[in-house]
Amino acid sequence: MKYVIVGACIAAAGAVEGIRTVDPRGEIAVIDGEKRGSYTRPLISYFLAEPERFINIDYRSPAFFAKHNVRLLPARAERIDRQQKQLLLDNGEAIDYDRLLLATGARPWIPAIPGVEQDWVKSFYTIADAESINELVDADKEMVIIGSGLIGMKAAEASLKQGLRVSLVEKEETIMPRIMTAEAAFIMRKHLEDCGLNIITAEEVVAFLPEHMVKLRSGEHLRADIVIMAAGTRPQTELATACGLIVHKGIEVDAQFRTSDPDIFAAGDVIETLNLCSGQTELMALLPHAHREGLLAGANMAGEENHYQGGIPLNSVSLMGWHICSAGEAGKEADKILRWQNERQYLELIFEKGYLSKYIAINLPEISGPLTTMLEKKLMIPQSEWEELMSSGPSLSIIPATYWQEIRRLEGYGNTECC
Ligand SMILES: Cc1cc2nc3c(=O)[nH]c(=O)nc-3n(C[C@H](O)[C@H](O)[C@H](O)COP(=O)(O)OP(=O)(O)OC[C@H]3O[C@@H](n4cnc5c(N)ncnc54)[C@H](O)[C@@H]3O)c2cc1C
Repeated sequence: MKYVIVGACIAAAGAVEGIRTVDPRGEIAVIDGEKRGSYTRPLISYFLAEPERFINIDYRSPAFFAKHNVRLLPARAERIDRQQKQLLLDNGEAIDYDRLLLATGARPWIPAIPGVEQDWVKSFYTIADAESINELVDADKEMVIIGSGLIGMKAAEASLKQGLRVSLVEKEETIMPRIMTAEAAFIMRKHLEDCGLNIITAEEVVAFLPEHMVKLRSGEHLRADIVIMAAGTRPQTELATACGLIVHKGIEVDAQFRTSDPDIFAAGDVIETLNLCSGQTELMALLPHAHREGLLAGANMAGEENHYQGGIPLNSVSLMGWHICSAGEAGKEADKILRWQNERQYLELIFEKGYLSKYIAINLPEISGPLTTMLEKKLMIPQSEWEELMSSGPSLSIIPATYWQEIRRLEGYGNTECC
């Protein structure tokens, strides 16, 4: 059997592991468009802050590919010929496949703002991006970051650590709007401002002027030696679209990661999968999901029939020494919200139809595990138990007794009645 994987990062590494658990001998070729092997994309901000210390951010080393007898090809895939079952590369090579995996991930979305093409306006998504930013960096410089998602925030953290003066512009009213509620964002904003980050919300950039000025909609200007565009990402679906596979925002796959062509699979940031919280099939660009999807897709390419159950949105990140964990989804039907806070800790629990639907925990890493299980397994915990426990301040003791009963029940252990 000939397996070909396009992309060499997280989903691709998972797929190699998945294939090899089933098929120790089949030929595997991995097409590495970035020519950097499999590296841990979230660590590029650590590389940006401390390039000497984080010189190696391999996700899987060259030895991993050698051990699994994988041919790693530094090239970009340009076209899929579904009739011939061939992948055509930019170096002129054509590679035959029996099973193909698209693990092409995403790329930064760059809005068409006048002046965006200037060489001091950068994206921040690859090691090459971080290297090119580092060439411009020194401690006297001023930086403007567009977008306050996790990528923008991690870029801000790294640049503050390098001593730059950093401003961040967010078009929404509050920072990190996709993962934080307004209340949680307010607390994080205060912390980040205390650490030196200049945050401007409800404002948009309308032009990058040649004299290193960033023009805002309000008419104000910010000086910038370097700009980082962190306005969002888009899945790299071009190969799939061009060969006629079904693509929406991401590539459509079934629960076994097959695309609309049964010999072509897809996994990672490039696909749409089931979000267990919203019940919708959607983009879920997260590293642990990408690896798991790649692993299952790889095993299925080699003949297994693993069904993916879906995943939950879960972001766990540290920013300027503070830890944030945000998981789940708060729809419009939130029927109860419980909040607790002190000077440096915050917990928000959002309920829908009686179930916990989202939580945000700042500097409370120890309770994230059980809360995430409650979301994933949709455990029904009476709200009276929550209220009582929240009143004494969150800790592991906040986990309601019913949680443990429910876990016992799900794990199939005997009588679940509490004595
Ligand atoms: C700064 C930053 C911080 C992040 N932090 C977190 C975090 O804290 N937690 C988290 O869960 N996730 C985080 N992420 C997201 C995480 O990195 C992604 O979810 C993960 O990398 C997805 O893996 P993937 O294999 O699907 O795609 P990718 O890692 O994007 O890899 C896809 C690869 O395919 C290559 N490719 C595309 N097209 C072709 C082609 N035609 N030919 C050959 N190669 C091609 C691409 O160049 C790329 O190298 C972060 C991302 C960034 C940028």
